Amino acid sequence: MIRTNENYSKLKASYLFSDIAKRVDEYQKNNPEANIIRLGIGDVTKALPKECIKGFHAGVDEMADDATFRGYGPEQGYDFLRQKIAQHDFQSRGANIHADEIFVSDGAKCDTGNFQELFANDIKIAIPDPVYPVYLDTNVMAGRTGTFENGRYQGLIYMDCLKENHFLPKLPDEPVDLIYLCFPNNPTGATATKEELALWVDYAKENRALILFDAAYEAYIRDDELPRTIYEIKGARQVAVEFRSYSKTAGFTGTRCGYTVVPKECMIYDANGDAVFLHSMWTRRHTTKFNGVSYPVQKAAEAIYSDQGKVQVKALVDYYLKNADIVRQTVTELGFDYVGGKNSPYIWVDGKGRDSWEFFDLLLKKASVVCTPGAGFGKCGQNYIRISAFNSHENVQLAMKRLKETL
Ligand code: PLP
Repeated sequence: MIRTNENYSKLKASYLFSDIAKRVDEYQKNNPEANIIRLGIGDVTKALPKECIKGFHAGVDEMADDATFRGYGPEQGYDFLRQKIAQHDFQSRGANIHADEIFVSDGAKCDTGNFQELFANDIKIAIPDPVYPVYLDTNVMAGRTGTFENGRYQGLIYMDCLKENHFLPKLPDEPVDLIYLCFPNNPTGATATKEELALWVDYAKENRALILFDAAYEAYIRDDELPRTIYEIKGARQVAVEFRSYSKTAGFTGTRCGYTVVPKECMIYDANGDAVFLHSMWTRRHTTKFNGVSYPVQKAAEAIYSDQGKVQVKALVDYYLKNADIVRQTVTELGFDYVGGKNSPYIWVDGKGRDSWEFFDLLLKKASVVCTPGAGFGKCGQNYIRISAFNSHENVQLAMKRLKETL
């Protein structure tokens, strides 16, 4: 008899964004004339940069000719892309990362979700609250947690990210083995300085722990003092894996491409406490279960690093950051406390004691604006909403006008 993976029954009944979609659909059905503005799910709205499209087309044309056609490519990505990543995203910032430490993939969701399968089941995991739900759910699926009780999975170490600690996780009081960090953060938009990241790198070294560092929103950092990669921190090569995504950098949410960095020195430990190189383990996993990103998509990604591509990508991110400015200005005028929106496309708004779903319903029903209720990201989000900057200037301006009228 074929049987289920019982861990799936521990998962909360539905995914946050399907709950939101249900409420929005129902509202639209009952109010067909309402012009709903969506500042909820973090999906981009603007087209791919022109240089990426050129690269994409060139890749497709090569596929159309026997002389230039390509079949299976290297699972870790073509060298032309890995070299550019290492040079432009890391070496240019003084971070010592090499092309053969880059694993090109179809995005950071899969990589952050898949990476946990390299670890033992009884490790101690520290996870921020609020958090991008993928880190949590994939560990639940793998059986690394107990049941969901009072808003939390048993067996995990939750790191509360609240106003009191500037929405930055505190070092755990007890030793942990795996740490999830995400900066600029989804959902709070908070960022971490080099000094703050250095505390985590030192902690990981002392405890023989590993940091999984999600830098999906790195392109939104405009403050030159902030680290763009964890490898700007001394010692991070031994204890950190970094995930990157072209989704919010260059509008690749529907095109699918990202990468993971696994430095050669990065180590984890077997049952005897002997060191094992994570790079070889991830190479084995990636080459066994993944067959590479399509060639035209990698050509499109390569174009991000051309002179023109860089200008266009910056303009794209600036466009969304301008929206974030408009949102910040409005919530400030309305007297709400918030974090994010600077060096980040997300604004995390304190609802002045309102329950986050109640605040969500109020904005939907009175302003026809969709946000994301903070409770969907964890217990610490219960009194917050997340507003995303991914929409047109016109829509964001209109949404903010409606917020001013409603609140
Ligand atoms: N990591 C974080 C923190 C995200 O917010 C997202 C997407 O919203 C992802 C990863 C997923 O990125 P990708 O589109 O590359 O799968």
